[in-house]
Parts: sequence; C-alpha cells; structure tokens
Amino acid sequence: MKINHLNLIHKRSTNWVSLLATMIEDNYKLRGLRNKLVKKLREKGIRDEAVLAAIGRVPRHVFFENALVDHAYQDKAFPIGEGQTISQPYTVAFQSEKLEVKPGDKILEIGTGSGYQACILVEMGAKVYTIEYNRKLYESAKDMLPGLGYKPYFFHGDGSKGLLSKAPYNKILVTAGAPVVPIALTDQLAEGGILVIPVGDREKQAMLQIRKKNGKLTQTEFANFAFVPLLGQEGWKV
Ligand code: SAM
Repeated sequence: MKINHLNLIHKRSTNWVSLLATMIEDNYKLRGLRNKLVKKLREKGIRDEAVLAAIGRVPRHVFFENALVDHAYQDKAFPIGEGQTISQPYTVAFQSEKLEVKPGDKILEIGTGSGYQACILVEMGAKVYTIEYNRKLYESAKDMLPGLGYKPYFFHGDGSKGLLSKAPYNKILVTAGAPVVPIALTDQLAEGGILVIPVGDREKQAMLQIRKKNGKLTQTEFANFAFVPLLGQEGWKV
C-alpha cells in the first residue's frame, strides 16, 4: 500500500477548508475509537492520567489519509513517508509517562516525525521544542500542527547534538533509537531533569530514563522497543 502522507498533510495545511473538514470529522465514532485506545493503554499498564487524557484528546487520525483512518486508533506504528513512522500509541504513552511531564516543563523532543508526540506534550501543558533531521517531515509538521491548535517551536537539524541555543531543558525525549547516550543531551538537561532515550542496536533498544540530580546522573532501564535509527553526529551513520 503506498502512503502519500506528505502530500496529504501539505494539502491539508494549505487548504483551510479541508483542514476544517478534518477537524469536523473528529466525530462521535472517532472519539469512541480514541476512548477505546485509551482503555487499551490503561490495560497495558499506562498509569499517568495526564498522558491518557492527552491521548484521549489529540486526534491521531489527522495524521492518516482518509482511506487509512481505521488504522489511526490501532495500537501500532505506521509509515509516514521518508522511510519514517508515527510511533505506536503505547510507545508514545510509555515515553511520555517516563518523562513525568508537568505543566510548564520546557521539553526538547528529538525526532518530530509526524508531530503527534509533540501534540501530546503540548496538550499536557509543556513548552515544547521539537527538532527533526528530515527537511520534508520538518516542513510538513511545521505547516500542519498550528492549524490543529498545537504550537511547539519547530527546528530542522541534527538533534543528536541537542539544541544548544535553547538549553537547558527540564525534559528531553528522543523518539529514534540511539547507539549511545549523546553527551550533549545530558549536558543540556537542567538540574532535576529527565532524559528518556531508547539505546541499543539498530533493531532493538532498551528505554533509558536518565535523571540529573545534584549534577549526577542515575539511570533506570525498561523493556525493549524498536525505533527507527537516530542519525547524525552522535547517532548512526547512514
Ligand atoms: N515523534 C514522532 C511522531 O510523533 O510521529 C515519531 C518519530 S519517528 C519514530 C523518528 C524520527 O526521528 C524520524 O522522523 C527521523 O527523521 C527523526 N530523526 C532521526 N535522526 C534524527 C536526528 N539526528 N535529529 C532529529 N531527528 C532525527
């Protein structure tokens, strides 16, 4: 199945009538599917009510072509073009929970992708800086999200080096699999901050939750996930 996601979101962002239609289409049925997804995530162990509430509010189907809307509220990752994916809802929920998001947190997200995860963090009251390496995906998300009412700060570039110009951050979230924890990211983490990052080989990564307390780093490791690779200077070489 060929998915022309980039054209789709570009069309939506440049045509307010269709964007409005998309919003209106967030009907009873879609809200019901979203509630079912929230229930499933709760059953799978997600406990943070703020995360669950955000997933219940952000319309994931707007990131899918009309013909594929049925996939939007299934708990699975999905291609978004450019060889990349919109993360599985469970993964989004798990990472958001491990980030312990508080309203007003300044968060750096590395790997904007579709922009869905950024919407979740904004919905939770965070001030979000999101950086994407792929120019087309960066432009698509930057065009689309404000029309949905979500306004993170968008950056194009190599997030494996963090985003020094806006550091420090209360929280840093990496949504691509890294070979190691980039030192730039722990350096750019504020005192008391949390970094959530999948680290491992190209196929499988452990989810690390790294806290900075009194300048010291402590790490908790969670089960395996499978992300697309983090590229760039501190990531995988293409
Ligand atoms: N958070 C996204 C969402 O909600 O749709 C999903 C992210 S997708 C699994 C991983 C993203 O990381 C891809 O869009 C990829 O282009 C991006 N990426 C990979 N290496 C990167 C880097 N060094 N800096 C910034 N983004 C990077």
